[in-house]
Amino acid sequence: QKINRHPLVYFDNAATTQKPRPVLEAIQRYYEHDNANVHRGIHELSNRATAAYEGARERVAQFINAPSTKDIIFTRGTTEAINLVAATWGAANLREGDVILLTELEHHSNLVPWQLLAQRTGAALRFIPVTGDEGTLDLSDLDALFRDVKLLSITHISNALGTINPVAELCAKARAVGAVTLVDAAQSAGHLPLDVQAIGCDFLSFSGHKLCGPTGIGALYARTALQEAMPPYQGGGEMIATVTFQSSEYHVPPHKFEAGTPNIAGAVGLHAALDYLDDLGRENIHAHDTELASYAKDRLAEFDGIRIFGPAGDRGGLVSFVFENVHALDLATMADQQGVAIRIGHHCTQPLHDKLGVPATARASFYFYNTRAEVDRFIEVLQKGMKLLS
Ligand code: PMP
Repeated sequence: QKINRHPLVYFDNAATTQKPRPVLEAIQRYYEHDNANVHRGIHELSNRATAAYEGARERVAQFINAPSTKDIIFTRGTTEAINLVAATWGAANLREGDVILLTELEHHSNLVPWQLLAQRTGAALRFIPVTGDEGTLDLSDLDALFRDVKLLSITHISNALGTINPVAELCAKARAVGAVTLVDAAQSAGHLPLDVQAIGCDFLSFSGHKLCGPTGIGALYARTALQEAMPPYQGGGEMIATVTFQSSEYHVPPHKFEAGTPNIAGAVGLHAALDYLDDLGRENIHAHDTELASYAKDRLAEFDGIRIFGPAGDRGGLVSFVFENVHALDLATMADQQGVAIRIGHHCTQPLHDKLGVPATARASFYFYNTRAEVDRFIEVLQKGMKLLS
């Protein structure tokens, strides 16, 4: 479509992606033919809805190579998944003197839940530092960083800088000191092949809407052995085995963590999205996105007075930058007038931006449907804008 009389260039994929037609059709087909509530029913439509919902769970398990379907808890997205771990595993296992190890790159959704938990339990937060504008992790003193750590919770790919973190190495180090691990895969699940067993994490979370699926659905991988010992998250229907007026016995994992009617249509849409991505091939998506990001970075480097963030080498499919003389808001507004959608702000990583000494950055983030020609158009729009604004 055209936006402000110009062909749309959608470079806000780190915030959310567009939805392919097969995803929309799967959701519509479900509502037109199979809509009913899950699990409790004994009629045909309920059986179909249950099969669709549980089929989506199986597909998620396969997508991230989880050992068992039971390891998959459906959530509203990454944010709810992390809050679930904090409220259940965290509340049951952390106490004063324990350390929660994060990185300085974390999205607020992998920071604020731990702040809340730290306030409640007396646990302390510690951060793996990033090295300047490149935004890679400083891992020079791992032993000191991991002292007294009970939980390591880190992003796989930074939504602000595009840094790809060495999650498998860090999870191995965490395991060696007996710590539990969580990987925030919001920016990686739809962009590269993911294997929770190869990463060696205990928990991993992602959001459907960032990988061509609908909003309001995501998944938490949680090793079943850990789920057994975790108290429930929310109470209600679906999560119980038996209930008396005074107390309840809970359903087996993962249902114990899914109170109430779930987002069945969302799970159906997510299933279709995962099929779509695997038809394209996640290796291909990764190669395309990183190539586009590095092309965009090279083209941006043509500008005077620009500061480009993120690693010099491999990066996720995005590039963040600021101009010395032009405010990011003016830049994004001007780009929108020319049909180019980019995002500006702290991208839910305010402490990281404080450390970088900038209140906001502009971010262009890519997906498999973006092209080099669109990057060229983006650069052209910036060139015009810089003439006007600086
Ligand atoms: N973590 C990262 C790295 C993200 O990029 C995002 C979304 N911007 C989130 C967590 C939160 O995801 P959601 O809003 O879908 O819960």
